[in-house]
Amino acid sequence: MAMEMEVAVAAAEDWVARTAEQVRAEGERRYPGETPTCASGISPSGRVHLGNLRELMVPHLVADEVRREGAPCRHILSWDDYDRLRRVPAGMPEEFAEHVGRPLSSVPDPCGQHESWAEHFKEPLRVSLDRLGVQVTEISQTEMYTGGAYTAEIVTAMRRRADIDAVLGRYRTKRAADPDPDPDDDEPRSGAYYPFRPYCAACGRDDTTVTAFDDETTEISYTCACGVREGPTPIAQVAGKLVWKVDWPMRWAYEHVTFEPAGVDHSTPGSSFTVGAELVSEIFDGEAPLHFAYSFVGTTGSAKMSSSRGGAPTPADALEIFEAPLVRWLYARRRPEQSITLAFDAEVGRVYDEWDALSRKVAEGAAEPAARVIFARASGPAEGPLPVTPRPLPFRTLASVADITAGDQAQILRIVRDLTADDPVADLDEVRPRLDCAQAWVREYVGPEDRTQVRDHPDADRLAELTDEERGALKLLMDGMPAYWSLGGLTTLLYGVPKLQRGLPISAPPTPELKAAQRDWFILLYRLLIGKDTGPRLPTLLLALGQDRVRALIGG
Ligand SMILES: [Zn+2]
Ligand SMILES: [Zn+2]
Repeated sequence: MAMEMEVAVAAAEDWVARTAEQVRAEGERRYPGETPTCASGISPSGRVHLGNLRELMVPHLVADEVRREGAPCRHILSWDDYDRLRRVPAGMPEEFAEHVGRPLSSVPDPCGQHESWAEHFKEPLRVSLDRLGVQVTEISQTEMYTGGAYTAEIVTAMRRRADIDAVLGRYRTKRAADPDPDPDDDEPRSGAYYPFRPYCAACGRDDTTVTAFDDETTEISYTCACGVREGPTPIAQVAGKLVWKVDWPMRWAYEHVTFEPAGVDHSTPGSSFTVGAELVSEIFDGEAPLHFAYSFVGTTGSAKMSSSRGGAPTPADALEIFEAPLVRWLYARRRPEQSITLAFDAEVGRVYDEWDALSRKVAEGAAEPAARVIFARASGPAEGPLPVTPRPLPFRTLASVADITAGDQAQILRIVRDLTADDPVADLDEVRPRLDCAQAWVREYVGPEDRTQVRDHPDADRLAELTDEERGALKLLMDGMPAYWSLGGLTTLLYGVPKLQRGLPISAPPTPELKAAQRDWFILLYRLLIGKDTGPRLPTLLLALGQDRVRALIGG
């Protein structure tokens, strides 16, 4: 009975299950017999960062939940690659300023290996989505617009421009408070309103002003800042697109979108969703999708890396240090209205520990029902679980090993074998990809001052100052090492040395006095081995160094 209650409560609070159910029901009501559609929209105008990934993960989790229940669900990724280049992002060559105003798909590729600026920024996201098990149907707005897919909708919008203008006008007065201003609205408004913005036939930019549109013939005329006068030309033959606040609802109707979330900045009163919801029914004979806002995604500890790579971290950056299921988990475990913080600093180790603890609980059947459901979603999409590290050693341990060995693979294998003495790891592939993540983390996010530098030669000054008690402790360690040479054994021995010195058994319970003695003893070892007061866990450090090197440094 208590168990049933728990399940019921979990289901009510489970936004993924609840939204998936709504998508199925609403999809069937609106478009009977059709596969329901969840939508994401991404502008490939620059690096697609981790905040943008939420735009994909929220609909993914919902669409995936529908599929998990055995029903089809379409998740479209609408690439806004026909949007104008608004500005040259920081870190990009200034000569691209010449392309401001042209569609992202017409701006040259900054690296020379892609078809265009847009493709340059799409590719890394595609690779990350694939690794995350996020299946999408990509739709290029360039292809849709230039292929004529929206011609009927464009003509409708142009003929109904006065009605659109009236709807927009009701919100324009509130624009001072609009955190999501449409750049198209910001133009000085003179003359008639037109919701279609041509890309100039001569210069390719959208510095254009529509001067006439014939509702009967659908011929359009425009001028451009470059001096060109064009038209009257049938609008079907004119490059251009609907302004954003009209474009979005047009696509809801065109694609039969049943669910589309957006960032909180798009969802306030007067923002594009509110306006779009009116326009979709009034102009495009459709319905606004089910919608809610998702909150921000922040990061900690990524500043160092960001400045060297230019901008906020991307999904690819996160996947370099987190196994794919962990990235899914970081998004799946928060409700949309909760913000997410992705750690790139020392917190990474704690995130892995939490995940490992959850994995063990699930395997033992001890996890709470809600946590179990989230774990399943994190582990992979409906098609099946994503690859995991066969032997998931603690991330912090692997990071220490990577740090101490400076990445030397033979040394790493030797240490990892010692770490798993009961059932030794045969091949480093058994601890991958987690080992690669740990190595990347040490390389990219641990500052040189925090790395471990093992001393080249013994600290003669400190060794000369040793007290009798210190000398005794070091001797106990050296004598005990061979018999205790494993992670568990060395842990027992290291904590046990101050106990043995006081005539206590090695398993004696800790006391405040013992703890103080242990602290001093560990500092002594860190000073002698790495010249600092703290460092990686000492058992790991000793295993990494090997008995001969430890002896050489502590004076034996
Ligand atoms: Zn490129
Ligand atoms: Zn022009």
